[in-house]
Amino acid sequence: WHLSRALPFADDGVVVKWFGTNTDIDEQKQLARQKDDFLGIASHELKTPVTSVKAYAQVLGAMLSQEGEEKKAAMVMKMDAQLNRLTNLIGDLLDVTKINSGKIRFNKEWFDVNAAVQDVVQDLQHTTSRHILVMDFADAGELNSDKDRIGQVLTNLITNAIKYSPHANRVIVGTRREQDNVIVSVEDFGIGIPKDKLDRVFEQFYRVGGSKQHTFPGLGLGLYISNEIIRREGGKMWVNSEEGKGSVFCFSLPVTDKKVADT
Ligand code: ADP
Repeated sequence: WHLSRALPFADDGVVVKWFGTNTDIDEQKQLARQKDDFLGIASHELKTPVTSVKAYAQVLGAMLSQEGEEKKAAMVMKMDAQLNRLTNLIGDLLDVTKINSGKIRFNKEWFDVNAAVQDVVQDLQHTTSRHILVMDFADAGELNSDKDRIGQVLTNLITNAIKYSPHANRVIVGTRREQDNVIVSVEDFGIGIPKDKLDRVFEQFYRVGGSKQHTFPGLGLGLYISNEIIRREGGKMWVNSEEGKGSVFCFSLPVTDKKVADT
């Protein structure tokens, strides 16, 4: 009885249509693709006007400053800072669509790890007055990878470390080499992550949430994008954390063959 209800039979008893997992998976895939297409188009369309408004805000800020209108110039600078946030959010949405459609591209080049990490740390030090970003560098050598993308990953980790440790005053950024891998770590002394949520923080749109977290803004995309970048560059990302004490996010990248072509 059950079977005859689930499977439509032709008069000769042959099953004419099969319902079940295949159909469901196809539908799910199509929905996921539609969501990604929408995200791609929406974020692309948002990018153009935001870029334009940002350019006007910068010109306006400079004009006001020249005219000695410092108060007004400061307000425009605040607008500009918020526009940067918006630009970053749109950039994250675009990156997610690039990752999910397999269209993310990497431009590999040889670079000195400690110099690159130092550049990012010094840039981000300007964004926080509470935290000191401590550099704990060992000899990490050179990597053949996409320097901008690796910088983006590090920026995500340090920005999170600052954001999720509002009462701490230190973030430690470390580099080291272990056999054929470069390891970069970002340690904070902030709110930490509950043990049962640790596995999930690299998922798309996942945020730990809860009463302690609802005040922190974000889309839950930074770690997903970071993990995917590192994975696609042949590396690994992981986290150790204790709730109420802090977190250490690390990534390792393999040092591939030396610059044979250059020598
Ligand atoms: P977002 O910060 O925009 O929410 P992320 O993908 O960067 O997104 O992080 C996902 C979630 O992981 C965050 O919402 C937060 O709950 C948790 N998280 C990430 N980094 C930290 C950290 N350094 N300390 C505590 N929680 C963190």
